[in-house]
Amino acid sequence: ELQRIESSKAGLTIGAGVSYSAAYEALSSAYPSFGRLLDRVGGDQVRNMGTIGGNIANGSPIGDSPPPLIVLGATLTLRSHGGSRTLPLEDFFIAYGKQDRRPGEFVESIFVPALPAGERFAAYKISKRRDEDISALLGAFRISLDGDRVKAARIAFGGMAATPKRAKVVEAALLGALWNEGTIRDAQSAFDTDYQPITDWRATGAYRLLAAKNLLMRFFLESTGETAQLRRFEEVA
Ligand SMILES: Cc1cc2nc3c(=O)[nH]c(=O)nc-3n(C[C@H](O)[C@H](O)[C@H](O)COP(=O)(O)OP(=O)(O)OC[C@H]3O[C@@H](n4cnc5c(N)ncnc54)[C@H](O)[C@@H]3O)c2cc1C
Repeated sequence: ELQRIESSKAGLTIGAGVSYSAAYEALSSAYPSFGRLLDRVGGDQVRNMGTIGGNIANGSPIGDSPPPLIVLGATLTLRSHGGSRTLPLEDFFIAYGKQDRRPGEFVESIFVPALPAGERFAAYKISKRRDEDISALLGAFRISLDGDRVKAARIAFGGMAATPKRAKVVEAALLGALWNEGTIRDAQSAFDTDYQPITDWRATGAYRLLAAKNLLMRFFLESTGETAQLRRFEEVA
């Protein structure tokens, strides 16, 4: 039962036992950027064996699937012999190594709501190698515009804090503002309030912050159609 993928108008329900490879088709057709990200998780062996449920339950701050799932508004269903409960995925991660999972509970499924028409979503993984490398950081972005203005923004990162975490100060800096380069430049400084990333052997804290700010700019540029050069680079990288 844990290996089922169910698709409806409302979204995708992915059983906790579904491997990355098995989830690829459904996720990449609903959220193309998620597909490109899955292609960067481990290598073929890891993608064929590793599950999205395990990636979440593990609670790592550098797991690749939580940031995009949080941005997409995913919910998690946990089950025990006493029944099941559902919570927003972002609330599952309490602190480093501590998740909201009670004794006897296991992750049963993840529900990913459909992306409403007109909303833009992208996820970018930064690692030293293309394959078989854990993220130094991973940014996921989702934006909804009302004309030229930002109606809603959800941004989440891995590798920037002790848990996968929303950039709520950056989101607030974007909300209601014009979707233009000036707004992006102003909002970039808000990352300093949202995150104080550590330095480890994957990256320095300063590199992580700078890369996060640049990913916001990349998301903006791609949203305005300036994608050719970036995409070409991504395909080569
Ligand atoms: C070579 C290699 C490369 C990797 N590359 C990446 C990468 O690029 N990106 C990335 O994010 N991760 C990477 N990983 C880490 C890992 O393989 C993945 O996160 C994978 O998704 C884990 O899934 P799993 O099913 O193997 O979980 P497991 O490793 O079997 O489980 C992880 C933890 O979660 C628990 N668990 C598993 N399923 C459930 C459940 N349904 N309910 C409750 N608890 C559960 C287990 O008991 C365990 O404590 C890599 C690992 C290796 C070995």
